[in-house]
Amino acid sequence: MRFDIISVLPELLESPLNHSIMQRAKDRGLLEVFLHNLRDYALGKHRQVDDYQFGGGAGMVMRPEPLAACIEKLCAERIYDAIIYTSPDGQTLDQSLCNQLSMKENLLVICGHYKGIDERIRQKYVTLEISIGDYVLSGGELAAAVIVDAVGRLIPGVLNDETSALFDSFQDDLLAPPVYTRPAEWEGMKVPEVLLSGHEKNISEWRHEQSLERTRSRRPDLLERYEKGEDAA
Ligand code: SAH
Repeated sequence: MRFDIISVLPELLESPLNHSIMQRAKDRGLLEVFLHNLRDYALGKHRQVDDYQFGGGAGMVMRPEPLAACIEKLCAERIYDAIIYTSPDGQTLDQSLCNQLSMKENLLVICGHYKGIDERIRQKYVTLEISIGDYVLSGGELAAAVIVDAVGRLIPGVLNDETSALFDSFQDDLLAPPVYTRPAEWEGMKVPEVLLSGHEKNISEWRHEQSLERTRSRRPDLLERYEKGEDAA
């Protein structure tokens, strides 16, 4: 799977995507991430990418021409399954959207800055707008890093234990159960007996009950979805 990311601050993306699971995914040839510096497509000798907002108001807006030049160049090289703009008014990223995106081959992600990008770029090129939550970041790079990480780890072969993503929170509309490691007793607190029993069926029942309980107390909205899904199954 390939991500192309357009940004005025590509350095912001280097560190988060060059470690741990993301690096392993790249080493295994399962994930490719290419960063494109929008300034390379900028206008004039000042390498301008932004300009004043028509109608007045504080904050600059990203001009359409450099973005269009970069998008056109990339689109001439390959077909993108989606051209994504990271934006607080987009569809909120969740596990189901991550699952869908993990099955795609080529994704192009545009990171905004300042007040955002000229609306006409959204109209002409963007096919999917994603928000990573109801708050405002100063740029789209961190949102793009979140998208690449959350989607990239779902590509088959990226996680070592193939099944482990299946038991993460949200994968089945339930939150994950509590987890413990050694020592079996720490500061007077013991690991639940069942986890030490080696009895697989009891362990998996315990985990399922804990997941249900956690979801009931923390995210009743998810539990409702889970129960509907169970009815449909
Ligand atoms: N004025 C805009 C916000 C601009 S923030 C508004 O109110 O909607 C600058 C850039 O940061 C945006 O163009 C977008 O690319 C990115 N960004 C900010 N918050 C985000 C969020 N919650 N999810 C995804 N991208 C976000």
